[in-house]
Amino acid sequence: MKIGFDIDDTLINLREHAFEIYKRKLNIDVPSEQFYELNRVEIHELFGLTDEQGNNMWNRSLEEIYYTECPPYDGAIETLKELMAEGHEIYYITARPKEHGERTKEWMKKKGFPIEDTRFFYGMQDHEKVNFIKELQLDYYVDDKPAILETLSQESVQPLLKDQSYNRNYPGPRIFHWYELKTFLKNK
Ligand SMILES: [Mg+2]
Repeated sequence: MKIGFDIDDTLINLREHAFEIYKRKLNIDVPSEQFYELNRVEIHELFGLTDEQGNNMWNRSLEEIYYTECPPYDGAIETLKELMAEGHEIYYITARPKEHGERTKEWMKKKGFPIEDTRFFYGMQDHEKVNFIKELQLDYYVDDKPAILETLSQESVQPLLKDQSYNRNYPGPRIFHWYELKTFLKNK
């Protein structure tokens, strides 16, 4: 099978990593519970920032957010390795900006993700991911953003959501932990 994956907040815990960076940089201690209750992707409101200030903060911190020690989710690397070893094709489709694509790929490889260079795509907008997914004829695609999975509703790909506090209203199938993915695929 051909299986595609988003990266940020699907395979790696990027928002929480950014949350820790913001706490340190802004010297504001926000309880983690507030982070876990957020119902939007952006985290800046926890620090009293407007959307514009939050946007600036994100862009100013991007280097640190992307390339320091952001932890992968438990079981993500192992699961992808097992799937690849079983002969499945693993694709990565991230909307990270073009200028960060190759560095992100190297960072992911260093972390231990199994990556084939020709199956790593970046630099598109969220709503353009559908074009890649269609072109690649993926069987499954996993992402944390409901809006992206909704663009796939007319396609033959089976969308699968990675659970997050901001996506609980999405009605389709979801995984809470990466250890669930292989069971999900087996039961299809
Ligand atoms: Mg994501």
